[in-house]
Amino acid sequence: MKRRDFLTTTAIGATTLAMTGCHRAEESESGSDTVHINKGKKVTLKLATSWPAHFPIMGTGVDRFAKRCSELSSGTLEIKVFAKNILVPAMQVFDACSASQIDAFHSGVYYWKGKNPAFSIFGGMPLGLLSDEMITWFKFGGGYALWRELYAKYNLYPLIGGTTGPQMGGWFKKEIKSLDDLKGLKMRIPGLGGEVMKKLGVNPVLLPAGEIYTALERGTIDATEWVGPALDSMMGFAKAAPYYYTGWHEPGSILELTFNKARWEKLSAEHRAIITAASEEMTSTMLQEFRYKNAKALQQLPKQVQIKDFPPEFFPAAKKALAEVLAEQSARSPDFKRVLESYQAFYALNKPWSDISTKHLLNIRE
Ligand code: CA
Repeated sequence: MKRRDFLTTTAIGATTLAMTGCHRAEESESGSDTVHINKGKKVTLKLATSWPAHFPIMGTGVDRFAKRCSELSSGTLEIKVFAKNILVPAMQVFDACSASQIDAFHSGVYYWKGKNPAFSIFGGMPLGLLSDEMITWFKFGGGYALWRELYAKYNLYPLIGGTTGPQMGGWFKKEIKSLDDLKGLKMRIPGLGGEVMKKLGVNPVLLPAGEIYTALERGTIDATEWVGPALDSMMGFAKAAPYYYTGWHEPGSILELTFNKARWEKLSAEHRAIITAASEEMTSTMLQEFRYKNAKALQQLPKQVQIKDFPPEFFPAAKKALAEVLAEQSARSPDFKRVLESYQAFYALNKPWSDISTKHLLNIRE
């Protein structure tokens, strides 16, 4: 902390203290009357996202985060949010932040699995932990320590930047009645879920958001996953693919709010604390907003939509395929193996408690 960030409790200091609601430092350089406050030099950080401007829930979550940082710092911390492709293309935010061209970014962790396959686990696991369980792994089960260690190699410091809650399994043009019906299908599905589908005979493709509907409508693809009722409804998928399947591949996807590490370390302790607190608020609010808006959108789906579960034979096959994918990735990447072991250790610890609490209550309630 630089000397100029401290003010003694003069009349000015006391006024500032009252205005900003900041705290008295327990220890100080010049005596017990010194006050540690936010009213230092104003800091402006450039944050680029992988979403269109004010994109519902995910993008507006970042907007709210920036506003909270300003409020909590009495305007001394300004986060300027740039939608995709304004400063850097959506899929280059990681590299731009690593190279200090921007200060921070908001995106999805599994987009960067080409840099290190282990990153896909930080984004979530098919048939695995739910959002609150993922966050518990990060904060108490060692996930954050591994994520920060691996991102430090890229001069990056990650925070959880929201989470989607359970995602739906996707929209299909034809009903899936058996595993055979999956064979040869072209489906837009990213990440580890896509790898599992591939082992079940699906041809997974990646398409940018703006191209999915047209591809589905023209039959270039047979199915697509997206997020859940709230965001899927805006895409109009129901018109082209009315079979809407319940989820399995993204039970609790984590979004990231990542900072350039050198820049992060130069921020004042207060600004770092404000960003951390505002990111936690953003994460819990985003989960609540997804829950509320998904519940509402589910009531308003077009009449032709048929909600379906995959056939019972799908799940043992998907679990077997996932185990193969994880074993292959672990053999190829020591980082993947290490992160997977940490994830699995928490999974094993959490499951018996989760089974007799959350799962039990969900099963017995009306
Ligand atoms: Ca998705």
